[in-house]
Amino acid sequence: MAVTRTFSIIKPDATRRNLTGAVTKMLEEAGLRVVASKRIHMTREQAEGFYAVHSERPFFGELCDFMTSGPVVVQVLEGEDAVKRNRDVMGATNPANADEGTIRKTLAESIEANTVHGSDSDENAKIEIDYFFKPEEIVG
Ligand code: ADP
Ligand code: MG
Repeated sequence: MAVTRTFSIIKPDATRRNLTGAVTKMLEEAGLRVVASKRIHMTREQAEGFYAVHSERPFFGELCDFMTSGPVVVQVLEGEDAVKRNRDVMGATNPANADEGTIRKTLAESIEANTVHGSDSDENAKIEIDYFFKPEEIVG
């Protein structure tokens, strides 16, 4: 299995509850390595651009409100089959449907305030990493 990269966000519900370390520990225990990390407060423009694929969905406005409601931690994660590995440890979008032991089952508050973002394909991982990081900020 190839070592690849994915993009992660620790969302405002998690930073507000001081769970940055708890989330990162679960990522690391799942075999992912944090090779870039920064705490930022997303602008409205950044959030709308990042979630542009969801712009027609009814929750788009609220999602952008939520993602700009407090700081987030954007990260690049590296590991074997990183996209799938991260999606597996994240759990389902709705924490009520997430498997036991996943980040969302353990920590998420709701379908919106669901603690973490993770890229859904290698192609989107590259786009999302490039959206937030310069190459020199990633140190593997
Ligand atoms: P995922 O984050 O699991 O890839 P999506 O890409 O479908 O899920 O949705 C992006 C984000 O939008 C979710 O993580 C969640 O924060 C929010 N979201 C998704 N569905 C809903 C919904 N029905 N109501 C409110 N927020 C939602
Ligand atoms: Mg998604």
